[in-house]
Parts: sequence; structure tokens; C-alpha cells
Amino acid sequence: MKKRNFLQALLATAGMTLVASRTVQNSLDSPHPAPIELAAAGLEDMPASVEQEELQLVALQENELNPAYRHIEREVKINQLTEANAEQVVTDYLDKIRNFDANFKGDIFITETQRQLLKPTLARIDRVLNYVGYANFNLLSFDEMLFFARNYPGIGPFEKTEIAFLEEIFYADATNYGFFGEKVAPEINHRIAQRDVEKIESSGHYLLKGESLTHFLQIRQDVGPDLLLTSGIRNNVKQMHLFLAKAVQAEGNLSRASRSLAPPGHSFHSSGDFDVGKAGLGELNFTADFSHTEEFIRLIRLGYVDIRYTDDNKFGVRYEPWHIKLV
Ligand SMILES: [Zn+2]
Repeated sequence: MKKRNFLQALLATAGMTLVASRTVQNSLDSPHPAPIELAAAGLEDMPASVEQEELQLVALQENELNPAYRHIEREVKINQLTEANAEQVVTDYLDKIRNFDANFKGDIFITETQRQLLKPTLARIDRVLNYVGYANFNLLSFDEMLFFARNYPGIGPFEKTEIAFLEEIFYADATNYGFFGEKVAPEINHRIAQRDVEKIESSGHYLLKGESLTHFLQIRQDVGPDLLLTSGIRNNVKQMHLFLAKAVQAEGNLSRASRSLAPPGHSFHSSGDFDVGKAGLGELNFTADFSHTEEFIRLIRLGYVDIRYTDDNKFGVRYEPWHIKLV
């Protein structure tokens, strides 16, 4: 894909578009400058041959600045965005998601106060996990986690500072990290009812009844019995646990963590997406290795399966061939 087209697509997710300067000029001349109309008319697709074309970022909807817009604005001085630095923005962006486990200039780290809370808080959540069990932990709501901690001496109640830390992480603007996905479960105490899910035998995971479950069963039937469910529905507590563990691994680099994993509240696992793998492949199921398996090749050939985080996606996330998007 041409870099310019890619940037165009990336910005579209932030509610923005690239327009040629001549288009902008026209809009300023008109009595009602309305970038959204220009975009709708396809004028932003003016041929690249327009003389001395300069690219500019224009918010698609006036008065509605998507947080991702502010993020990009920090990287590029808006009215100085030229074809050349647009290329650089895209090159840097792709470099990050292709080398997701590296540190990059501008990455966001946890604060010193948060750093001190990270391990004890994570250890307390681990104790909740051990108490409720691996499968149930996927469904646990925030209030239920606090309840178990309060009532079982082996866990011990969360300190006020620990709860505040978890809330800070949950409510942080993930676009600051460089993550551009949607906030799917914005309520910290999002609940998943037991009656709405079904446990998948020998997987330790649940799937939402309805489309999600049907989709998985169909895929397993068509690909074969070696196709496993490696992660099903996950509530915010589970996602928080995964994200904090990743943050520890990344030595407090939250941008690096968010290139591998949606920050809590942003995971489509809360609404029906699921992960699949090949029996026997173990942890490698969560690497690009999965895309070289016979199971993955069959899965793609089915024609009806979508991957949420494709190669070079627009969400700031690594390639996840194992993560099935609920259609
Ligand atoms: Zn996943």
C-alpha cells in the first residue's frame, strides 16, 4: 500500500482526513467552509499531480476532536505536514508495530508512584485469580474482585492507593500510548453474566452464547479438532491483569505493553472476539508462528473468518493472526 494511502486510512480511524492544500483553499473561499463536505465529495483524493501539493490534516467533524487527533498533532505540526514527513510518520508508526517489543523514543512509562504500586497490586490480583480459579477469573467484574479481596484473608483488601492506581490505568487515554482501538467496555465494573456464556471443554475459557459461540464451533468443525480456543471472553479485571503483567515485562513502558495487548477496557474479548491456536504449539500460538501452521492456512481459506489485528493495522497493535474478530 502506498504510504500516503496508509496514512489516509490511519487518520480516518481518528476521524480525520488528508486534503490537498488547493482543496482547503477552496473551502476557505466558500461562504461555509466545511471540510466534511469536501471529504464526502472525494476531493481529498485529488491526483498527486496537483502542482506543489501540500497535505494538511483536517478534522472531519468540527468541534469533535478525537483524542487520537491530539496524539498525531503532537507528532506532526498540523499545517506543516508535507508528503515527505507524512511518509516519516507512517514509517515510524509501522516500525513500532513491527518491532512491538522494543522501546521507542516518545514511549509513555508509568510514573514513579505507579511503579511502586505495580508489583504489590499485581500480586494481590494474582491471589484473587488463585482463589476464584483460572476460568472464572475471565468473567470477574471489578467489584467482585474487591469483594473477594475483602472477604478472604489470604488475599487481603486492596489498599486505597492500589484501587486508585487501577482506576488511573483504566481511565487513562490509551491514545497517549499510541493505541488507537476503541474503548469497548468503558465501565470499569462491566459485568458478564454466567447465563450468557458457555464454558468450552478443556480450554479453561468461556464464550458468549450466540454469534461468538456459533462462530467458534463452525471454525473448529471446518478446520479440524487440532484448532483450540486459547482465550475466550475476558472481562476488564482479566485484561487489567494481562496488561499489568505485560507492563512489568516491559519495565513500565505502557506504550510497549499496548503494542502487544489492548489496554483494559479496550479489548474486544469483552464483546465476543476470541483467540485460537494449534494443539501442541503452546505459547507460540501467540506469536507470528501461528500464521505458518496448517490450521491457520485452512482458517483463512474458509473465507468467512476475519482477523482483528492484521499485519500493519491502524490500531497501533502488533500482528495477531490468532485473534478472531467477531463478524
Ligand atoms: Zn485476542
